[in-house]
Amino acid sequence: ARLKNDFVATISHELKTPLASMRVLVDTLVEGRVTSPEQAKEYFRLISRENERLTRLIDNFLTFSRMERNKRAFDFAPTDVAEAVHAAVDLVRDRCSTPACTLEVTVPEGLPLVTADRDALVTVLLNLLDNALKYTLDKKEIAVRARADDGSVCLEVSDNGVGISRGDAKKIFDRFYQVDRSLSRRTGGCGLGLAIVKFIIDAHDGTIELDSVPGKGSTFRVRLPIGPRDETALKE
Ligand code: ADP
Repeated sequence: ARLKNDFVATISHELKTPLASMRVLVDTLVEGRVTSPEQAKEYFRLISRENERLTRLIDNFLTFSRMERNKRAFDFAPTDVAEAVHAAVDLVRDRCSTPACTLEVTVPEGLPLVTADRDALVTVLLNLLDNALKYTLDKKEIAVRARADDGSVCLEVSDNGVGISRGDAKKIFDRFYQVDRSLSRRTGGCGLGLAIVKFIIDAHDGTIELDSVPGKGSTFRVRLPIGPRDETALKE
């Protein structure tokens, strides 16, 4: 019950923040209080960013509540990992197009197909990329790599950010766990992203591991098995 209460409180808080900023920006535009077309453009850009953030939050809440109800919410099919990587990267490209951010994408041609829910895979990559951007302070160097590796497709998302200590690394996949609550709040987190990532990877019979050096950066590594799923091993 406490978890449910926390959840509702967290949702309300998290939804209110982007809504409030959008409201201020829209009101300013509606009342004609902007002084130049450049300023108006900047306000539209900020509204669009808040809107994106709200969409991401709601997607995460919906995925989480499906997880809670323990529904088999996945639609497995042979999936082109490269396409999922490019779709996720496209969704964060705008946020990376500043001089203080580089985003390197390395995806070889002809990766084997994995049996996956394509949209869930995009959610995994998006959450990892979102974190890489959120927990990197000054000059952001983000990299996404994919490769075939020993019967699986391996996906890595690296950053040169704040890093995660060994102790925290054990807990970050727990729902609502945040290492630095005030930093996460400022960047629009609610502590569900990695719990969702873990849930999706588990449902795909995959693994996720983390290499991180505090103060230097983190690499999240996901492995997804190549080929058809072993349905007999599935537990209802
Ligand atoms: P949040 O919504 O707070 O980002 P997540 O479940 O996605 O929630 O992550 C849980 C916590 O793990 C974060 O609050 C942050 O402290 C830590 N974390 C996640 N990704 C990174 C990263 N790339 N670098 C440093 N810390 C991270």
